[in-house]
Amino acid sequence: MKTKLGLLYGGKSAEHQVSLQTALAVIKALDLEKFEIHPIYINVEGRWIKGPQLTEPVEHVKALEFSEGNQLSPLSLAPALFQAEQQERQPLDVIFPLLHGPNGEDGTVQGLLELLNLPYVGNGVLASAAGMDKVVMKNIFAQAGLAQVNYVAFIKSEWESAKEAAYAKVEAELGYPCFVKPANLGSSVGISKCRNQAELEAAFVEAFQFDRKVIIEEGVVAREIEVGVLGNDDPECSVAGEIVPKMDFYDYKAKYEDGETALIIPAEISDQEYEELKEMAVRAFKALDCSGLVRADFFLTKEGKVLINEVNTMPGFTPFSMFPLLWKHTGVEYPQLIERLVGLAQERHAVKQ
Ligand code: ADP
Ligand code: MG
Ligand code: MG
Repeated sequence: MKTKLGLLYGGKSAEHQVSLQTALAVIKALDLEKFEIHPIYINVEGRWIKGPQLTEPVEHVKALEFSEGNQLSPLSLAPALFQAEQQERQPLDVIFPLLHGPNGEDGTVQGLLELLNLPYVGNGVLASAAGMDKVVMKNIFAQAGLAQVNYVAFIKSEWESAKEAAYAKVEAELGYPCFVKPANLGSSVGISKCRNQAELEAAFVEAFQFDRKVIIEEGVVAREIEVGVLGNDDPECSVAGEIVPKMDFYDYKAKYEDGETALIIPAEISDQEYEELKEMAVRAFKALDCSGLVRADFFLTKEGKVLINEVNTMPGFTPFSMFPLLWKHTGVEYPQLIERLVGLAQERHAVKQ
């Protein structure tokens, strides 16, 4: 029996286009002998549209951006949305949310799937939500004893009522350069590097356009090394990879537009550094109660100190993204990676039953 796999992609976030590319790549990689593919497209307005089951090779698929048919609101019509179109309606076997950022990677979609009692790929509600909020994530990492940069956080009302005090705190505790980030985004959206108070003030204004909470971090001069983690209770690590941005830092443009950022896999690091990265990646995975996959991102300072920067609970997942490339170099090709993730989703769901 084929696995009925629901692919959930698109979405309201800044990564809509990236998600479409990912969906196409995943469809191409899936073995139609093993999987029945059911596309579920979320358009930029956030409407959910169920596409027809894909029965042909992907060369015949004209578009993945559906505009007609049932435009569903997920809450009122969720049960219908996740059923296969057959004489008698059957629920899909597994959902693969190929979504990034808020309303995709942050536990909201995961909560919907939990309510529907459907197995889904990747992290659960708690890990997704905690991983999306950089302040909560770093507080949990701190409690797990993971080394990281110093940081402070403000909610918008605190900053508005005492701006000078906020800047003074940043200068006293972190100094320059520092990084100001919205607490709840990814893809470097709204992030600024600040070298003085004028830049700091502008950075707060910018970051608060995206979130009611911001985090400010001490800036480090460091190499950026990433490790893929795959599994549930007993996760495994991939080889490490290095990101070498051409820009001042790894910003949105560098990530998705200029294509100039070099990915070096495997990263040229010592065995000891690699062991430390792996140990920290698994500790971070367990601290956030992750499942399925994460990409753990680190700073490796000149002095050889390893600091965790973040984990991404739904990392970029095109075949040219870091996470799949790390696994390819570890011996797991893209189609196998997808199958492993589907298997892990079913395994986790079975344990819960
Ligand atoms: P996102 O979740 O949007 O990827 P990150 O926290 O990873 O946000 O920041 C994006 C990029 O900004 C990093 O990949 C790195 O290049 C740079 N950066 C972020 N924080 C720091 C820091 N504290 N010191 C130095 N560079 C940083
Ligand atoms: Mg991130
Ligand atoms: Mg990042």
